Amino acid sequence: MTDLTKLNLAATRDGLKNRDFTSLEVTEAYLSAIETANPKLNAYIEVTAQQAREMAEQSDHKLNSRDGGPLEGVPLGIKDLFATRHVHTQAASHILKDFKPEYESRVTQNLWDDGAVMLGKLNMDEFAMGSSNETSHYGPVVNPWREEGGNKDLVPGGSSGGSAAAVSSWLCAAATATDTGGSIRQPAALTGTVGIKPTYGRCSRWGIVAFASSLDQAGPIARTVEDAAIMLTSMAGFDPMDSTSADLAVPDFAAAVERGVNGLTIGVPREYRMDGMPEEIEKLWHEGLEWLKAEGAQIKDISLPHTKYALPAYYIVAPAEASSNLARYDGVKYGLRVAGKDITDMYELTRAEGFGREVKRRVMIGTYVLSAGYYDAYYVRAQKVRTLIKRDFELAFADGVDAILTPATPSAAFGIADQEMNSDPVKMYLNDIFTVTVNMAGLPGIAVPAGKDHRGLPLGLQLIGKPFDEETLFAAGRVIEKAAGGGFEPSDWWSA
Ligand code: GLN
Repeated sequence: MTDLTKLNLAATRDGLKNRDFTSLEVTEAYLSAIETANPKLNAYIEVTAQQAREMAEQSDHKLNSRDGGPLEGVPLGIKDLFATRHVHTQAASHILKDFKPEYESRVTQNLWDDGAVMLGKLNMDEFAMGSSNETSHYGPVVNPWREEGGNKDLVPGGSSGGSAAAVSSWLCAAATATDTGGSIRQPAALTGTVGIKPTYGRCSRWGIVAFASSLDQAGPIARTVEDAAIMLTSMAGFDPMDSTSADLAVPDFAAAVERGVNGLTIGVPREYRMDGMPEEIEKLWHEGLEWLKAEGAQIKDISLPHTKYALPAYYIVAPAEASSNLARYDGVKYGLRVAGKDITDMYELTRAEGFGREVKRRVMIGTYVLSAGYYDAYYVRAQKVRTLIKRDFELAFADGVDAILTPATPSAAFGIADQEMNSDPVKMYLNDIFTVTVNMAGLPGIAVPAGKDHRGLPLGLQLIGKPFDEETLFAAGRVIEKAAGGGFEPSDWWSA
C-alpha cells in the first residue's frame, strides 16, 4: 500500500470515504511515523495514541455505514495552546506543569464534531511568544528542512513551530495553530507549508490559552491551499462563549479555491520594500505579482504609510495584554506550585521558576507600559497607532484593492541557537515585520510556499485580505501555489 501519511488531507478524506483504507490504518501509519521522527524533530510533546485509535475506530464505524462528518477519520495534530479535555494542555510552559483541562476548546470541539482524529499535542514557543520555537519548555523543534547538502539543524519558525514541522514532515494530515503576530504564517513560510490566519473573530478563542486577546486568532497549517480551506471551514464559526466571535455564516472555503484571480486588483505596498531586504525575496515577490497578472489580476502600487510603526506598537500592545492574561498563573489555580514561606513568596517562587526568560521579559514590558504614568505615553499611544494601521488598509481596500501581496518573512529558516538572532530580542522580533500589521488590523492573511532561497530552503509569500474575505485569499493563494509548481517537500533524513 502507498504510504498513507503522504496523502494530503483532501485525498485522505476521499480515500476514507471510498473505504480505500480505514481511519485506523491511516492513524497507525501516522503514529508509527511520529515514533520514528519525533526523537529527531521534537514536534509532538504529547502523543495520544490510545485516544487516536479509539477515535479512528469510531470514525471507521461511521464511515462503514456511509455516515460521518467532513473530516471523518482524518488524523490531526493540535497545538498545545488549545485546551483538550483531560489531555496535556500546557502552552509548552513549565508553569502549566501537568495541567489537563476539564473542557475542550471550541475550535478543537468543532474538529471532533466533524469527525477528525487527534494524534497529540504539538510543541510551540512558550505561551506562543517567539518566532523560532526555541522558547518552549520542551526544547526546540527541528525544521524538517535542511540546506542543500547541509546537516545543520534549522528552526521551523514560531510560535506554531511544532504544527509547521509536523505538517511538513508528514506527521499529521494538517494541524491547528494560532497567530498573534505571525505565528501561523511565519512557520508555514519557513517549512514550505500553507498557513492562514483568518479574520479576527472568525474562529472562537474559547479554550485557547490567551496570549494577547485582541490579536490572537486560531487557524490551520496544512500542506496545500485546499487542505487549509477544508480545515478552516471546520474550525471556524460563531461561538457565544467568545464575545469577540463573529456571528457570521462560515462559507465553504474549499469552494473558493479554484475561483482564480481574473479581474481582481492586487495591491503592492511600497512600505514593505525594506532596506536590506535580500534580493531573492524581492525577486520572489516580483514573480508572485507576475503569476497573478498572468491569471488576469491587475497590479496596483499602494501605500500603507503607518507600516513602520506596526512592530513597535505590537510590542507594546501584545506584552500589555500578556502581562494581564498571565497574572492568573500564580501557583494557586493551575499547574506548578513552588512552596514559599508565605503566599507572596509562593507566588514569586512559582512565577520565577514556572516562566521562561522570554515570557518574563514580556510580562515585565507589559507591566511597565500599563503602569501609572506610562500608560498614556505607551499603551494609549500604541492603540492610536493601531487605529492608523487599520485605516491604511481600509483606504487601500476602499480604493479598489481586493488583496495585498507581500513577502511572508524577511528570510528563510535560520539555525537553532543562531548567535546573531539571539544576540538581541529585537532581531528575533523582526521576523514578524511583514505579518504583525495584519494582526494589528484584524485582517486575514495567508502564507503560501512560493520559492526557495539560494540554499534550497522554502520561502513564502503572504496575501492579506479584506475582513472576512478569506475566500479571495484561498483563490489567490491557489494561483501562487500552482505557479510555484510544488516541490515543497523536505528530504526525509529523520527516518534514515
Ligand atoms: N513572534 C511574535 C511574538 O513573539 C508573534 C507570536 C505569535 O503570533 N503568537 O510575539
